[in-house]
Amino acid sequence: MNTIRIFLLLIVLCFSTLSMAAEKPHIHLLATGGTIAGSGQSATGSRYTPSQLGIETVLESVPQLQDVAHVTGEQLMKVSSQDMTDSLWLVLSHRVNELLARADVQGVVITHGTDTMEETAYFLHLTVQSPKPVVLTGAMRASTALSADGPLNLYNAVVTAAAPESTGRGVLVVMNSLILGADDVTKTNTIQVQAFQSPNAGPLGYVFNNRATYYHPAPAEPHTFFDVNRLQQLPRVGIVYGYAGMEADMLAPLLANKYQGIVYAGVGNGNIHQRAFPLLIQARERGIQVVRSARIPTGPTTLEAEVDDTRYGFIASGELNPQKARVLLMLALTRTSDWKDIQPFFFNTNY
Ligand code: GLU
Repeated sequence: MNTIRIFLLLIVLCFSTLSMAAEKPHIHLLATGGTIAGSGQSATGSRYTPSQLGIETVLESVPQLQDVAHVTGEQLMKVSSQDMTDSLWLVLSHRVNELLARADVQGVVITHGTDTMEETAYFLHLTVQSPKPVVLTGAMRASTALSADGPLNLYNAVVTAAAPESTGRGVLVVMNSLILGADDVTKTNTIQVQAFQSPNAGPLGYVFNNRATYYHPAPAEPHTFFDVNRLQQLPRVGIVYGYAGMEADMLAPLLANKYQGIVYAGVGNGNIHQRAFPLLIQARERGIQVVRSARIPTGPTTLEAEVDDTRYGFIASGELNPQKARVLLMLALTRTSDWKDIQPFFFNTNY
């Protein structure tokens, strides 16, 4: 009799474990490289080589991930993020769209170098058509460092991607326990673990004790979406940094090399040096779009302040920093080349 009872108990336990596993969300991890996959010879020194470890090693280093979700993964690319390219963005966006279209995938986590994480996050934010969570994370310290931050960042990213509250918020960045929105997040420190902030909007929430907490509900309206699924290349857009004493020849290569757009990282409220002005007017005459953005870390670049934007056909970047303004301009140019139609994309606050 006792043997039968033990047998039945084992069957019940087996079924309940299986059904618990089935209830866990399926989160797919896309590894792209960066410090989170970096290794160095010393645990205390700063020298290391990024993008060394494969996805299996990264997954094995955090076995607790499987307690949160059914986590699978693939090594999509191995690139240090300073070498990120527009074509790799397209590869990444195509793969995320493909994964999220599947009923058996509830969210995607992307491990990425921190240098250009904000741009990749914003590109995906505008090109992934799904309310399911997409979370980027990385590390400031290599996997071999004392107190490496990668494992907890990855764990918190999976917690965030698996949380139903993360649905409909666009692409997120989870670093050092903060949940940050793709439109505003930026890297603000070159070496510290607390390297990412959203200087205008502030963080959307945080992860603590295995739980993602948000300060506000998800936006009611979905943000603008650009369909790049059939694109193999993006319009060429460059950034020029404004500074006291700037010379006009800084801009000449962009005019000569068939760029379709220029983002001018201006001083103050996107102001342009008088030597650069004639080149930007020439750019407009040649049909090149010009976006005024600002090298200032907070506040919007507004229309018609010191610059007569309507007269020259310039666009103001609103809250977007120059590198994000470049992403939006590239995508806007896939739809239209009329500056009047491009400006509204920059002032659509629900980016
Ligand atoms: N520069 C490398 C990258 O962005 C490593 C830096 C990092 O991941 O923090 O991929």
